[in-house]
Amino acid sequence: MIKLENIERRYISDEVETTALAEVNLDVAQGEFLAIMGPSGCGKSTLLNTLGTIDRPTGGHYWFEDTDLAALPEKELAKFRAAHLGFVFQSFNLIDELTIEENIALGLTYRKDVSGKKSERVATAMDTVGIAHRARHFPHQLSGGQQQRAAIARAIVGDPKLILADEPTGNLDTANGEQVMNILTALNEAGATIVMVTHSPSHADMAKRRIDMLDGRIVASAMRAL
Ligand code: ADP
Ligand code: ADP
Repeated sequence: MIKLENIERRYISDEVETTALAEVNLDVAQGEFLAIMGPSGCGKSTLLNTLGTIDRPTGGHYWFEDTDLAALPEKELAKFRAAHLGFVFQSFNLIDELTIEENIALGLTYRKDVSGKKSERVATAMDTVGIAHRARHFPHQLSGGQQQRAAIARAIVGDPKLILADEPTGNLDTANGEQVMNILTALNEAGATIVMVTHSPSHADMAKRRIDMLDGRIVASAMRAL
């Protein structure tokens, strides 16, 4: 589904150059569950944001199916993101002024193409993550674990081809972190392709494959032992 070819990302600020990604080659097959690990500053978020097209590489090619996204203008990328990607962040990023179901419905903005009624899709997504009983509540009325489950529902409500999760359990206690991991695992088993950044070795072990990064490069790649 995805092929990164020789991706490079350099930042230049105050005449200091940082290479966040160098010679990154990565294939992600449909149905994969990939974990990205590595020390702080090694380029994990930059890689995830590159996959999410919210960061643009300074070199290389990003093939998504048959399109080289590195060559597309921003307007086309915005359409691509809305149609095919779901994002989950460490800090949930729900909108405080909207209810949980309204937040989840945001995942359908720009999705006139999806089948079924919007409200039914939102209800299904809420059931999938077990948050239906909080539909009319506001984010601040929910625990962190519930907020993250709502954020996952927002990410999946449009049935994206790829779910990108940046430390989805980073702000959660052990029990809530496990619950979020179990939801991601179930989504993957149901067919979703997931790429996740994590600092937790045990959570990385729940993925099907793990890559390790160091200084902007992928230095190891291992399938989960069955
Ligand atoms: P990680 O997610 O592994 O902590 P990042 O992808 O956030 O790493 O960062 C990789 C490197 O790129 C770091 O050295 C970081 O300081 C640098 N970097 C990230 N974003 C910027 C930016 N906007 N401007 C300059 N340097 C950046
Ligand atoms: P959680 O973090 O698991 O969502 P809550 O604090 O929201 O927990 O739920 C408190 C209790 O309500 C739990 O014991 C849970 O089993 C129960 N519960 C969950 N969903 C519903 C529902 N739709 N209706 C009634 N009770 C529910």
